[in-house]
This record gives sequence, structure tokens and C-alpha cells, in this order.
Amino acid sequence: MEQTGVEAILITHIPNVFYLSGFSGDAGALLVEMNRATLLTDSRFTVQASEELAPALIGLKIVKGSLASAAGAELVRRHVRGRAAFEGARVSVLDAADLRKASQDRVRWRPVTGWVERLRTVKEAGEVERIRDAARLASEVIVEVLPLVKPGVKECDLAAEIEFRMRRRGASAPAFETIVASGARGALPHARATTKVFRANELVVIDMGAILRHYCSDLTRTVFLGRAPTRIRRWYRAVSEAQEAAAEALRPGAPAEAADLAARQVLRGYGLERAFVHSTGHGLGLEVHEGPRLGRGQSQPLDASSVVTIEPGVYMEGAGGIRLEDDLLVLPGGPEVLTNAPREFLEL
Ligand code: ZN
Ligand code: ZN
Repeated sequence: MEQTGVEAILITHIPNVFYLSGFSGDAGALLVEMNRATLLTDSRFTVQASEELAPALIGLKIVKGSLASAAGAELVRRHVRGRAAFEGARVSVLDAADLRKASQDRVRWRPVTGWVERLRTVKEAGEVERIRDAARLASEVIVEVLPLVKPGVKECDLAAEIEFRMRRRGASAPAFETIVASGARGALPHARATTKVFRANELVVIDMGAILRHYCSDLTRTVFLGRAPTRIRRWYRAVSEAQEAAAEALRPGAPAEAADLAARQVLRGYGLERAFVHSTGHGLGLEVHEGPRLGRGQSQPLDASSVVTIEPGVYMEGAGGIRLEDDLLVLPGGPEVLTNAPREFLEL
């Protein structure tokens, strides 16, 4: 704020509100000024907010109606003048209009992006601990459900079983809609689980993750039902080697795209680079997709203590897909793998 000369910033993206204030309700906005911060929320959250906020640091204001209008009026009431910022990627056109209207012509609002997200990239020890727990939970559940992957079982039943078991172990929710994609459907990287049944001699891609104490995990394994033909084993080996190469490229200070380039280079060696249709990974934390993005053109250096996924895949129309995904903590001496489910090719 000092660097840009803004007097206040209104934080409305809920993970950012939680990150800065500790308030975990799903409706609220945090008005941050140089010397104070105020959480604006509604009367459903009065008790929760007073429990979760550090009262010496963050004020609480219970409002009726539009949070944006209340935030604008609050600045007027405090005689704040000059420039203020809102999260441009997270505020609706209507809310931006409300903000401007409520603060009359005293405050010049401008959209900014990524200010809090940038801070969230570097994880504190307590955050790493939570991601580690979420990663362990997902790893245990995937190992537990593998015996259920057999011909005749429906994709949606396996997805439901995974989500049920994550909840039973304390997850507040799946980190995203669990992907179970069998046979040709595995060629769709973000396939939804359907009522399709598993058949013999198919690949099955399972991509799942849990939210545990607000932090996410994200894990993918691919198995084969039966004895896999040589070409499928070769694809699996290629993906597995690409994953290892990408992990080796994860170093603090290395450009984020280095991991992606390393994975692509391995797949190119197998003639499979065109079958890898997405980027190699993404940051992980309060949200399942956050910074940094490990993709082409991402030249910003990786931070120590960031947590990222490494998830190369090959997708063959008609034949199916293979993806392996693990969560890694970036450290100076080389990354630590937080997901510990077995990685070798399983023929069930
Ligand atoms: Zn995933
Ligand atoms: Zn992922």
C-alpha cells in the first residue's frame, strides 16, 4: 500500500479474507487501512467473527445489505480521502458501482490483482503442516479404495466412496469434484465421474483431494484393470519419468516454467509431447489452484516454502489417459513430497 499510495484496500475474495484475518465465514469483506483493519460481515456471523478475530488488531462491523456499500460508507465516515483499491478479479460490476457510489467522490477506487495471492504463495510452517495432513489424508484414502476399482463398479460410486471416506477422516469437503475417468473417458483431463462402469483392460484415472482445516490436497493416480499392453506401460513410464524430472527442476529461484519444460522434454523423448495438453502443476493452499502456475512462459522465480503439484499426463483420444499428481514443498535442498501414495504402475 505504501508503494502504490493507496489509503485502503478492500479484500473480498474469501480465502484472502481468511488468510489476513482468520475469519472463516463464507460472507465478509476486510477493509485494510494503513493502521487498522475492519471486518464487515452480516449478523449470521456475529459470534463466529468475534471468536475468530484478534480484537486488538481487527475491528468488527456487522452490516445489513451490500458489503461494498458498507465499505464505501465506512471510508467516508472515517474521512478517508484519496486512493483506494479493490480486488479487481473478485468484485462484480455491481459491487464496484456500489463502492464508488457509497464513497461519493472522495475516494478514487482502482482495481488491483494478486496482492494477497502473492503473499499466500510462501507458506508458513503451520500452513505446511495442514497441507501435509491434507495430503496424507488423500494418500490414505486412495490406497484404501483401490480394492474397489474392479470391473462392474461405477465411476460415480467410486467417487462417492472417496468423498465419504475423506469426510469420515475429518475433511470438511473434497477440494474439488472428485474425478474418476475410465477407459476412453480418461482422455478428458477434467472428466466428471459418470454412471459408466469399469471394464476389464481399461485405464482408470482418479484425481481427488481433501480440504482439512482449510487447506487443500490434490492427488492423482492411474491404474489398469488387467494386464496392460506394452504401449500403455510405456506411456506410464514416460509420465512417471516426466514427473520425476519436473520435481528435480523445483528449486527456489528457478523459474516456475522450468518444471514444465523438464516434464515436456521427457515426454518429447517418448514422442508424447502433443499428448500432454495442460500445464505441469499449480500452487496449492487455501485454494486448490493458486500461484504459482508451473506452465510455459512463467518466468517468475519459485519461492522456498511454496507448495505445488506436479501432474504431467498423456491423453490419447479413444484409448484413455494417464496422469500422476503429487504435492511437493519447495525447499533449498530439493523438494519434499507430501503425498505418499504408491506411485508404481498398478495392474489390478
Ligand atoms: Zn488433481
Ligand atoms: Zn492439480
